[in-house]
Amino acid sequence: MAQHRDILIIGGGIAGLSAAAELAQHANVTVLEAEGTVGYHSSGRSATMLHYALGDPQVRALTFASRGFFEDPPDDFSEVPLGARASVLVHAREDELGGLEALDAAIAPFATLERVGEEGLAELCPILRTGEGGAVAAIHDPNAIRLDSDALLQGHVRALRRRGGTLVTDARVSAIARAGAQWQVETERGDTFCAPVIVNAAGSWADAVAVMAGLGPVALTPLKRTIITFDAPAGMDSSGWPFTKTVADELYFAPESGRLFASPMDEVATDPCDAQADEFEVALAAWRMEERTSLKVERIHSRWAGIRTFAPDRHLVAGFDPRADGFFWLAGQGGFGLQTSPVMGRIVEAIVAGTRWPTDAVRPDELSPARFLG
Ligand SMILES: Cc1cc2nc3c(=O)[nH]c(=O)nc-3n(C[C@H](O)[C@H](O)[C@H](O)COP(=O)(O)OP(=O)(O)OC[C@H]3O[C@@H](n4cnc5c(N)ncnc54)[C@H](O)[C@@H]3O)c2cc1C
Repeated sequence: MAQHRDILIIGGGIAGLSAAAELAQHANVTVLEAEGTVGYHSSGRSATMLHYALGDPQVRALTFASRGFFEDPPDDFSEVPLGARASVLVHAREDELGGLEALDAAIAPFATLERVGEEGLAELCPILRTGEGGAVAAIHDPNAIRLDSDALLQGHVRALRRRGGTLVTDARVSAIARAGAQWQVETERGDTFCAPVIVNAAGSWADAVAVMAGLGPVALTPLKRTIITFDAPAGMDSSGWPFTKTVADELYFAPESGRLFASPMDEVATDPCDAQADEFEVALAAWRMEERTSLKVERIHSRWAGIRTFAPDRHLVAGFDPRADGFFWLAGQGGFGLQTSPVMGRIVEAIVAGTRWPTDAVRPDELSPARFLG
């Protein structure tokens, strides 16, 4: 027997859960998550930063619009803070100074930045190579946030349940069909659900879910990114070091529970999958750390990879599919899905439940999947 709902959300990552918590204020919502736990894929593998040194004006504006939620969440959302103040240092070699200028101008509307010279660089991050061939200047944002992705995910699950919604894990959707005014959704376990609205928040699998529903893809590109952790230099207190990034997308590193983590900012094309770190990118991360800093990466403590999934224009996709009633896309979160999730949850609420549009950062048509389906 099919279980009837108002809204079914496919995917229990940050996108699906933040939207589900908002929509559950208006409708009977169920989230179907393929894995045994929420956040198993991209949402549990990120660098968990909120900062403005990535993306473009739209991404920065959506991040800015989301920031207040992380700093001052609703009273009953989480018993622990959703993040901690962190600083971000974006550095440049002599030949990269043009890029640094451009980034400074792009971030300025959203954050108060400090300009840092070689002396300041050595103070903020003493292992960074400076001077000839090394970093000569940087911009420093002392007000970035290191997010707690688990607290965020669990907060949304609790809000969903408090508002009468449900989360079903181990519920991989394996068939989707339109039956009259309803979508009929079957899981691999054999459960059947019906709803007039489905939200496709399946991350890297969002195109595959649309194809399952008899629709074409919007041409999402899943790209793998790798992170390693390793020992911080002996005798140095690295706990206060910033999230330190090259102005070109080559390397970032930051303190991580007494160690350091680093990513070579790889973007390796992949099929949607349970991403694993490959030797080449692991070695590249270590090599770039040694190239840009005085550190020798002696022993890699842990490694992981996750997938960042982009729409063709690298902007988020949120809106009903013009080809089929009740099929809502929430995809293309790229490398900014956590830091934009509060406002995106409210945008989904506005489109699906008809509440007030929550932000000047973006217009509905700029997010609509219709821009790829014309
Ligand atoms: C290395 C790395 C660093 C990053 N750093 C940052 C950062 O610093 N800041 C930031 O904001 N973002 C960052 N990101 C990006 C961020 O993690 C993603 O944008 C975000 O997690 C995407 O969320 P999602 O819910 O769309 O995807 P996911 O978390 O992947 O969730 C999608 C879910 O859908 C489920 N699903 C798929 N198919 C089905 C099906 N058929 N039936 C049921 N369920 C299904 C999957 O199991 C999955 O749990 C980073 C990502 C990576 C990989």
